[in-house]
Amino acid sequence: MNSLPPVDVLKSPVAADLAGKIAVVTGSTSGIGLGIAAALAKAGASVMINGLGDAGAVEETRRQLAETHRVEVFYDDSNLMDPVGVADLMNNAVDVFGRVDILVNNAGIQHVAPIEEFPVDRWDAIIALNLSAAFHATRAVFGAMKANGYGRVINIASAHGLVASPFKSAYVAAKHGLIGFTKTIALEGAEFGVTANAICPGYVWTPLVEKQIDEQAIAHGIPRDQVVRDVLLASQPNKRFATVEEIGGLAAFLASGLGASITGSALPVDGGWTAH
Ligand code: NAD
Repeated sequence: MNSLPPVDVLKSPVAADLAGKIAVVTGSTSGIGLGIAAALAKAGASVMINGLGDAGAVEETRRQLAETHRVEVFYDDSNLMDPVGVADLMNNAVDVFGRVDILVNNAGIQHVAPIEEFPVDRWDAIIALNLSAAFHATRAVFGAMKANGYGRVINIASAHGLVASPFKSAYVAAKHGLIGFTKTIALEGAEFGVTANAICPGYVWTPLVEKQIDEQAIAHGIPRDQVVRDVLLASQPNKRFATVEEIGGLAAFLASGLGASITGSALPVDGGWTAH
């Protein structure tokens, strides 16, 4: 006969609760990063947003996030292409909040071209931002997270961290590397209450995707609507873009106490793409 679960289980939370936690989300002035910043703020975390963009528009985003969710939200405009910029962001976050509990390495760029024509400066930029910046940011706070006995590193990889597509050599290499780095963080943090996971979105409708529709149209020699149907969503079995809310919800869950045993994983949010 089954016995009743203990009382604590009956009272355990079902939603992510991040009240009192401090988060840094790189590249959060638009797209997925902004969706994640909003989800963490909604769950109660104070957030340092970062990214490029028009100063007035970013300030309006910051103000709305803070007022809507009644948490502290600050903005740091560091360019993360350069390790010095990453150090500036992380130092600023620690100066403002005293510590960082949740680090979301999200800032990323894309370039689409055949290997023999791939611009060397685009390769270097994609590796610097999509991979190396995650290392520099994690390195800056990892020791303190371990000392505090709590930390969450959430790396926004991609379905392209698990499988490849043509014409995306640098991006695929960086995202596969990011998943490898995630596993190493997980192993080094496991005994200290620090988890690390990679979220691997399929196509999400954001400015990054909007831009690459044109690039893909040139690379494949086909019109934009055909790129959406036959290239972007060709591999995504549910035939729709994932949403930034879906990615944000998963990040908030991973950051919460409920995510404490999930570490070292690469979680697809891709409508079944990588089930192929
Ligand atoms: P986006 O272009 O909407 O947002 C990118 C963010 O990074 C912006 O806030 C931008 O200002 C910031 N950024 C760009 N260069 C920067 C720099 N040098 N320093 C600091 N910040 C910088 O893109 P997105 O689609 O939201 O992508 C976010 C992440 O999600 C990326 O890592 C991307 O690879 C990943 N991703 C996106 C998709 C998708 O379909 N959109 C799918 C899988 C993975």
